[in-house]
Amino acid sequence: MNLIIKNGVINNCEGSYKADVLIESGIIKQIGTDIINKKNYEVIDACGGLVLPGGVDVHTHMDLDLGAYRAVDDFYTGTVAAAYGGTTTIVDHISFGPKGCGLHYEIDEYHRLAGGNAVADYSFHGVLQHVDSNILNEMKEVIDDGIQSFKLYMTYDNMLGDEDILKVLFKAKELGAVITVHAENNGAIQYLRSYYGDLGKTQPIYHALSRPDSTEAEAINRMIYLSEIAGYPHLYFVHISTEKGLNEIKEARKRGAENIYCETCTQYLTLTEECYGKEDHEGLKYIMAPPLRKREDVEALWKGVENGDVDVIATDHCPFYLEQKLKGIKDYRIAPGGAPGVEERMEIVLTEGMKRGISLDTLIEKLCANPSRIFGLYPKKGVIQAGSDGDIIIVKNQNEIIRQTNRHSAADYTTYEGFEVSYVVDITIQRGRILIRNGKLAAEKGVGEFIRRKRK
Ligand code: MN
Repeated sequence: MNLIIKNGVINNCEGSYKADVLIESGIIKQIGTDIINKKNYEVIDACGGLVLPGGVDVHTHMDLDLGAYRAVDDFYTGTVAAAYGGTTTIVDHISFGPKGCGLHYEIDEYHRLAGGNAVADYSFHGVLQHVDSNILNEMKEVIDDGIQSFKLYMTYDNMLGDEDILKVLFKAKELGAVITVHAENNGAIQYLRSYYGDLGKTQPIYHALSRPDSTEAEAINRMIYLSEIAGYPHLYFVHISTEKGLNEIKEARKRGAENIYCETCTQYLTLTEECYGKEDHEGLKYIMAPPLRKREDVEALWKGVENGDVDVIATDHCPFYLEQKLKGIKDYRIAPGGAPGVEERMEIVLTEGMKRGISLDTLIEKLCANPSRIFGLYPKKGVIQAGSDGDIIIVKNQNEIIRQTNRHSAADYTTYEGFEVSYVVDITIQRGRILIRNGKLAAEKGVGEFIRRKRK
């Protein structure tokens, strides 16, 4: 837990510089060029590699229970994969509980699932699956317990209607909570899924065609106007996937809308709907909501990353076995939605972002600092500075090809097979403890801790 990282190049979103880092009792104590080796302190030679804050992925679904299926990564395998990919903190979007249950029900369940298993540090977003006075009162208790964010869905079975959404937004404004939103127009999607389905159009591409970009844009627009009515509580759009959707956010900010944040994910920055046409039913691997989009959307999202319109890059990590995905051979609607990605995010985004000439400052902001700031983890997480947790990764500039054989999730495929990365995570350190070194897991199950998060 006491160590010195030497000969590295640090980046903290404010330019890169050579310095050493001293970590004592898990906390960063000093950054400088004059750190003297102390007795019994382990010295790690970064050999000129990048010394970056541990990654913060605020959108994962470990152990997600969908009823018919369960995501195949639990908090152990999922956070081991995260650690291999340089992510040291996750904030997980939890499952829905039984109908009518309170907010604590699933949070208590997730403490059981993660505690003693997680290798990365973790927190959860609460989930709002119905709204009444008890739920609204419970929000404060949950925040007091260190969980300052809640998720609501504008689609799926447990979606909230506009009236309930507004109740939540007023409450969030009062409490300083962050409301995270899955924004898609439910009615339009239901109609299109049935419309195509009735015509026998059930190949994977119809997953994308039944969720056109307007379904995302409409829901974002509606949500922002509801938020305006409630006085602009902190609103966070998860997994923005379209240019049209992002434009709604840009327009709203232009007209003065406040406290709006948005996230995109690795897959929406790298893959397109062409994947749905892959042979041998491979298109089913990419069934996820929102679906993969067009090349123009990918380009618009990168532009948003570069100029600051996009605040965060996360993953929506939610893996299933290929066998489970292949249940959708006759009808994509049967396949469970979701794909792995927690391990690939840092390396792919650094590689692709740098290739596009986006600064390391900007990329680290989206991968580490911004998610920490928005979700009450900063400056404990997401930054290398004195007083912060000693969560640090050492990244080398070398080429590697992503293969299923070099992955660590429990999933049996990666949607990034054959993808060449030029930034590779070499060492992952969390609170001064080495998690990954020499390609091997160096920590025990359960070393991850629940992190209490501060309200906005
Ligand atoms: Mn999700």
